[in-house]
Amino acid sequence: MIVALKVDVDTDRGTREGVPALAALLEEFSAPASFLFSLGPDNTGKAIRRVFRPGFFQKVSRTSVVKMYGIRTLLNGTLLPAPHIGQRHADVMRKIAASGFETGIHCNDHFKWQDYLSEMSLDEVREEFDRALKEYRRIFGHDAATAGAPGWQATANSRQVYDEAGFLYASDTRGESAFFPQMEGRVFKTLEIPSTLPTFDELLGRPEFPDEKIAPHYVNLLRSDRPNILTIHAEIEGMMKRPLFRELLAAFTENGVRFVRMDDLAREILADRERLPVQPLVMAEIDGRSGQVATQGVA
Ligand SMILES: [Zn+2]
Repeated sequence: MIVALKVDVDTDRGTREGVPALAALLEEFSAPASFLFSLGPDNTGKAIRRVFRPGFFQKVSRTSVVKMYGIRTLLNGTLLPAPHIGQRHADVMRKIAASGFETGIHCNDHFKWQDYLSEMSLDEVREEFDRALKEYRRIFGHDAATAGAPGWQATANSRQVYDEAGFLYASDTRGESAFFPQMEGRVFKTLEIPSTLPTFDELLGRPEFPDEKIAPHYVNLLRSDRPNILTIHAEIEGMMKRPLFRELLAAFTENGVRFVRMDDLAREILADRERLPVQPLVMAEIDGRSGQVATQGVA
């Protein structure tokens, strides 16, 4: 069984503390992973409106949201100025690349992309994404080859800017297998590799999933007929839930899982380009998450 780990890094604190801790844990298990960074201002505090809106983190209590992110992070961009993550933590990011992990773009401003992408014009999307592309280039000295959006958001505009960036692949959606996305009657050329497994925050806090049932549940979900893609968060699996994530890595290893990098997987998938399906990218609701997320539709 093959597992690819995609790490979303959302916040200043998650970059500073969660990323190195997660990298050390992954190295212990010789597990490669792909770190997608938030490169611009940390405006997490502005998302507090969404965090406290009914429905967000449906099954998780709001006090645990505060515990998970820390009060400081929840004030960034509101009572506290928004720290610029790329400017403050370029060294952390470069170290991740130097350690052999894949790196890519999560966003410029997480709050903006997650909450406003659907309302942004093509020019606005291009301008916002260009900030992330430029910051990535400044930090790593070369162009980014991938992105995965905050909050599983995707629009025809965002997929167009991915195409313009000439990415190897992207990973915005939830689904079953790789495809070329179709939206608004257009087919986009950047391969989409969906996350196939639920995220920790979709399971945590549910009465049917106490911590001790999490790792066995994931092992049960693994498929041997296709790659399994799991998205984790520097702020969750790299911080408060690191012991539980260690348990999961141990369970995967015990069950003979082989960890692969997303970009290696993408190259392998693209070798058979002609046989890859074009499928609609559809915004829909999924279990354990509020609002609409990008999903792999049926052709
Ligand atoms: Zn995120």
